[in-house]
Amino acid sequence: MLPGKPPHLRVILLGRDPASETYVASKERAAREAGILAQTVRLASGSTPQALLEEVERANHDDSVDGILVQMPLERGHDSRKVFDALDPLKDVDGFHAENVGRLHQGRPRFVPCTPAGILALLDHYEIPLAGRRAVVLGRSEIVGKPVAALLTSRDATVTLAHSKTQDLRELCREADILVAAIGRPGLVTADFVREGAVVIDVGINRLDSVDSAPENLRGSVRVREALAAGKRVLVGDVDFDGVLPKVAAITPVPGGVGPLTVAMLLRNTLQAALARRQSAATELQPKER
Ligand code: NDP
Repeated sequence: MLPGKPPHLRVILLGRDPASETYVASKERAAREAGILAQTVRLASGSTPQALLEEVERANHDDSVDGILVQMPLERGHDSRKVFDALDPLKDVDGFHAENVGRLHQGRPRFVPCTPAGILALLDHYEIPLAGRRAVVLGRSEIVGKPVAALLTSRDATVTLAHSKTQDLRELCREADILVAAIGRPGLVTADFVREGAVVIDVGINRLDSVDSAPENLRGSVRVREALAAGKRVLVGDVDFDGVLPKVAAITPVPGGVGPLTVAMLLRNTLQAALARRQSAATELQPKER
C-alpha cells in the first residue's frame, strides 16, 4: 500500500436505481477492505446534466481525489459521452475518457476499463492461451465489447466482434475457442452456440423476477426455478449455464464470475492512479536540473 494518505476514490451516483445502488455498495465495501477511501456523492434522481458535470469538475479539481467513477447507466436525458469527456483522464479509473480509450486501442493503455481488464485477468489466471486462438465477442458496447476485443487483439487472438445485426450468429459463435458474451439477453447463448472444449466468459447480468420473465430454456435450471418459486429475484447471465456446461473447457458463473473481478480491477486502477499522482507530485518537488 501507499505511504501517507490512502488512495481516494470518488464515486458519483445519480438517482436511485437499485442495481446501481448494489454495485456502488459492493465497490465501497471492497475498497474499504483494501484500505482505499471510497466516498460516494449522491445526486438526486432528476438532477440536471449540468449538475452532474459540475460534480465531475469538483472531483477533478479536488486534490485529495485520486480516482473518479461515475456509476453507469445514467438516467434518461444524460449523455454518458459528455460525462466521460469531462473527466480528468488521469483520474478516469474506469478508462472511458477518449484519451484513455485511444491509448488502449493503440496498445499503450493507461487505465484499462474494469470489466475487460477483469476478463483478461481471469483468462490469464487460468492460463488460457490467447495467441492465435479464435475469439468471438458478443456485444460491441464502449464499456465491455469493444475494449475486450481490443485487449484480446493485443494479445494476438483472432477476434470477431458480433452484435445485433450480425448474420448467422450461432454458426459464428460455434467457431470460437473463446466466447465472450456481453449482450444483456438472459440465457441467449445456448449449447448450440458453443464449440466442444470452448472457454466461455459470461459478462451478462440480468435480473429475473418472475417465471414469466425467464426465457423458456432457463426455466429448467433448478437454481432459477427454486428462487423464482420462493418469490426471490435471481441473477442470470447471457449464457444458459446449465445447458452449456457439459460442452465447455471452462465457463464463468453468474453471479460470481466476471463481476467480482470488475470490482478488483477498479481497486487496482485506483491504486495505480494514486501512485502516478504521488510520483508526479514528488517529481514536481525535485529541484530543476540546470
Ligand atoms: P449494451 O446494452 O451497451 O450493449 C449490448 C450489446 O449487445 C450491443 O452491442 C448489442 O448490439 C448487442 N446485442 C444485443 N442483443 C443482441 C442479440 N440478440 N444478438 C447479438 N447481439 C446483441 O450492454 P453492456 O455492454 O453495457 O452490457 C452487456 C451485459 O453485461 C449486460 O447484461 C450488463 O448488465 C453486463 N455487464 C456486466 C458487468 C460485470 O461487471 N459483470 C459490467 C458491465 C456490464 P447493437 O450494438 O447492434 O445494439
